[in-house]
Amino acid sequence: MINMLPPYLAGCISAAVFLGLTLAELRRPLRRRVESQLVRESRNFAVAGLGAAVTALAEIPAATWLGGIVEQRKWGLLSALAMPAWLRIALSALLLDYTLYIWHVLTHKVPFLWRFHLVHHVDLDLDASTALRFHFGELALSVPWRAAQIVAIGVSPAAFTVWQTALVASILFHHSNVELPIELERLLNRIFVTPRMHGIHHSMVEAETNSNWSSGLSLWDRLHGTLRLDVPQQAITIGVPAYGDSADVTLPKLLIIPFRHQRSDWSGKDAAGQRR
Ligand SMILES: [Zn+2]
Repeated sequence: MINMLPPYLAGCISAAVFLGLTLAELRRPLRRRVESQLVRESRNFAVAGLGAAVTALAEIPAATWLGGIVEQRKWGLLSALAMPAWLRIALSALLLDYTLYIWHVLTHKVPFLWRFHLVHHVDLDLDASTALRFHFGELALSVPWRAAQIVAIGVSPAAFTVWQTALVASILFHHSNVELPIELERLLNRIFVTPRMHGIHHSMVEAETNSNWSSGLSLWDRLHGTLRLDVPQQAITIGVPAYGDSADVTLPKLLIIPFRHQRSDWSGKDAAGQRR
């Protein structure tokens, strides 16, 4: 049996990826920044801190406990098939990645879930710190989905920790504001979600946001016909039109967005009217 990745190792890998990307963002920025980096990053870290508490107190214990039961009682799709441990981990990660694509679509399409996912999208810049900034409510709501993924697929605790560490690295990478050489980005994008691809998902244009929902492999967007690579980064304004001012996205306002009367998100004109 392959053991779980120790939490300190997963934490060190994520911290190293974050630091490496932050340094690369300073050297080769992909998009021009709108807000002060210090103010934004402090705000994003505060939102991320609350989210990390939910992940540490709810998601990880639930996934480890359920994964143990799945392993013991041979629940889930992959338990029905005999295969080496490494292949089971790889297939678990593949199916977790696909079902996360579905969850991401749901967070946009189901109004109640969008109230929470919106907090991630109203960031006026996009960089590695945006990758950490999910409302704690969204992370709490994702726990039952994660539990269903684990039981249906048959994900062991070892497979879960490997996938979660790879996912964090992938999310940090594709939210980052790093300008990769275009040839390298195109090559990577054949398999993985890349910064330019995910930048289109964070556009203020609704039709552009409704694309590029994958979190790890770009395959799922290709299969569903939701891949878009035709928008130059210079043409993209990051955010959601109804929350287009810095004053709309202060830390207290961010935290209460899901619980307030919802603005007409994609109409700049309506949004301006409501702000007045
Ligand atoms: Zn999204």
